[in-house]
Amino acid sequence: MVILPDPGEANTWCARQGNQGLTMGFVPTMGALHAGHFSLLQRAARENDLCCASIFVNPLQFNDPNDLSAYPDTLEADIVALENHGCDMVFRGTLSTFFPEVDDHEKIRKLDPGPLAHGLEGSFRPGHLEGVVTIVDRLFRTVGNCRAYFGEKDYQQALVVRDLADALAEDNIFISVIICPTVRARNGLALSSRNLRLSDSDRNLSSALFRALVRGKHAWSSGIRSKEELETIVADCLAKPGIRVEYAAVRDPEDWTSNAEDLMAARGFVAAYVSGIRLIDTMAFGSDRMKPDSLQG
Ligand code: AMP
Repeated sequence: MVILPDPGEANTWCARQGNQGLTMGFVPTMGALHAGHFSLLQRAARENDLCCASIFVNPLQFNDPNDLSAYPDTLEADIVALENHGCDMVFRGTLSTFFPEVDDHEKIRKLDPGPLAHGLEGSFRPGHLEGVVTIVDRLFRTVGNCRAYFGEKDYQQALVVRDLADALAEDNIFISVIICPTVRARNGLALSSRNLRLSDSDRNLSSALFRALVRGKHAWSSGIRSKEELETIVADCLAKPGIRVEYAAVRDPEDWTSNAEDLMAARGFVAAYVSGIRLIDTMAFGSDRMKPDSLQG
């Protein structure tokens, strides 16, 4: 596996592979890798001639400085794991190497994540999705034409990134955004780098996010279509001592900004704090007409 310290070298490496007609799979990460990341990587390796990953903890997407400073760093183990999961190249970078045109990070021009950033993460983490698209734009320009693999857990992020990929086609950069299923612990808790900061009892408690979504899914299966009723069912299931709920929302994944009282299709979204750690999760309630794979651009 080739390890490259900055995006310039990565761009040269990727362009060389592309010129030889090889297809590229790309998995952007912030490190502290776990089985969720590896599932993306394995799929990228399977569906492409080559696959690469990035490890960059992007300061632009952290609206909470404490969250950024506490973000786990397991770089050495990550490099070994990437190699073991079929990665051909990994690159890193700094704000200065990703944005060489500015001499001061405050001057980095943030991109607009568009209408899909309204609500949920867009409301509760101001500036987060702006920071995500701003760095993913640079990551995509670094790698060039590729299939890029994202996790369903960060569903709204993946939708926003898909819009970004569509816009990049105007610059002749062609990216297919592929959304892959959430990998979970045995108790249902969605794997996340932040779980490293949870105690065993916190992890048990945190599985309530998954159980609340399952409860919502059962309610949908039993015929309930009222958005408000579904949200109340999910929220009630999440209301437990030790869990500070930020949102328990149900949306039509195909009609993101809909205000309809009854939903045609539904996906549940939850965000909550356990011992100060922010966790999110999501689940399709019905047979999502927009299956994750159909999001390929
Ligand atoms: P992160 O390192 O948290 O920025 O995540 C990098 C990518 O891995 C994102 O596309 C995430 O959605 C994805 N990811 C994170 N956790 C999981 C999981 N449990 N299952 C599948 N994909 C995941």
